[in-house]
Amino acid sequence: MTVYGTRPEAIKVAPVIKALEASEELDSVTVVTGQHREMLDQVNEIFEITPDHDLDIFEHGASLSQIAARVLERLDPVLAAEQPAAVVVQGDTSTSTAAALAAFHRGIPVAHVEAGLRSGNILSPFPEEANRRITSQVAALHLAPTATSKANLRHESVPGDAILVTGNTVIDALLMTVDKKTPFSDPALEDLADSGSRILLVTTHRRENWGGAMEGVGRALARLATAFPEVHVVLPAHRNPVVRDAVLPQLEGLDNVTVTEPLAYGEFTRMLALSSVVLTDSGGVQEEAPSLGKPVLVMRENTERPEAVEAGTVKLIGTDEQRIVDEVSTLLRDQDAYEAMARATNPYGDGSSAARSVEAIQHLLHGGPRPTDWQGDAPR
Ligand code: UDP
Repeated sequence: MTVYGTRPEAIKVAPVIKALEASEELDSVTVVTGQHREMLDQVNEIFEITPDHDLDIFEHGASLSQIAARVLERLDPVLAAEQPAAVVVQGDTSTSTAAALAAFHRGIPVAHVEAGLRSGNILSPFPEEANRRITSQVAALHLAPTATSKANLRHESVPGDAILVTGNTVIDALLMTVDKKTPFSDPALEDLADSGSRILLVTTHRRENWGGAMEGVGRALARLATAFPEVHVVLPAHRNPVVRDAVLPQLEGLDNVTVTEPLAYGEFTRMLALSSVVLTDSGGVQEEAPSLGKPVLVMRENTERPEAVEAGTVKLIGTDEQRIVDEVSTLLRDQDAYEAMARATNPYGDGSSAARSVEAIQHLLHGGPRPTDWQGDAPR
């Protein structure tokens, strides 16, 4: 049984669900919590997944505790009815941690996809760092995307035979999608693609950036759009009104800024492939963009994804308005600085992470030969 509730989880578990559906040994049952509503449904549609159960927990303004409590309460009867052999959760959302706990309470083994990421600061990202640590405490199988994440788990005394390095399933999702050249539903974006303009693609949503920091991001974008009239800023705005109220007012009236609704995953990956520079506070985008050779500036003080920073394609720049303007300006003006970052690297996966994850789940439940760690991210 796979349980998920937000857009990033849906993207990252979709390849696992597809691999479970293809498995001859296992049956797949899918449960969505609806923590994100429309953005989640959009991803299920793209990957042609029809959930078997929908806990429908979404409510505007629900607190983290309300979200967690609803997942615990509504998932328990589904676990009782379906009696799954194992529950798969992904990442670090309130959905995934509450679902892991609900399964643990019923003695059902938990397989944690994207296990072992650590920023080292329990308060940042908030609440994700705590969520992922709590899930590690109750999981029976830890599917670590990289050798670094495995080392983090070993450091916390998780037994080595309970961990498999799989690569990150987001790269499976990206490779399943990016070549489809999905048409943009917004004609303005199709015109932009035809124009050949340089594109600065921006996403922002992190809870710890809400408020003043995010208003600064909005002001920085307005200054960049004014300083670089030939560059086009594309901002698919997160559905959360807190994010929209902070950023969007500063961008009104600028011709070279296009604010869109969240792009369907196929459209987003196409926009990623078309863009020159990516400015983001997203976890998943930090993993996807290096595969496409796009320089990524990350508006956070720390990251639980050090691999691409080490490879030189991702740079942490924080949320200071002036720093954002300076760092983006350098990449737009200085060809050498740009080329130093614009190299395709794949520290996060090779597109077979979901298949490895399902092999490991089969091994957990049925024994047999243990799959071997993915070596793709080992230093060469
Ligand atoms: N994404 C998308 N449409 C958008 C913006 C992002 O499909 O308009 C995808 C993106 O490719 C990545 C995921 O959503 O796979 C990241 O989600 P988000 O930034 O919300 O969460 P995080 O990765 O930070 O947990």
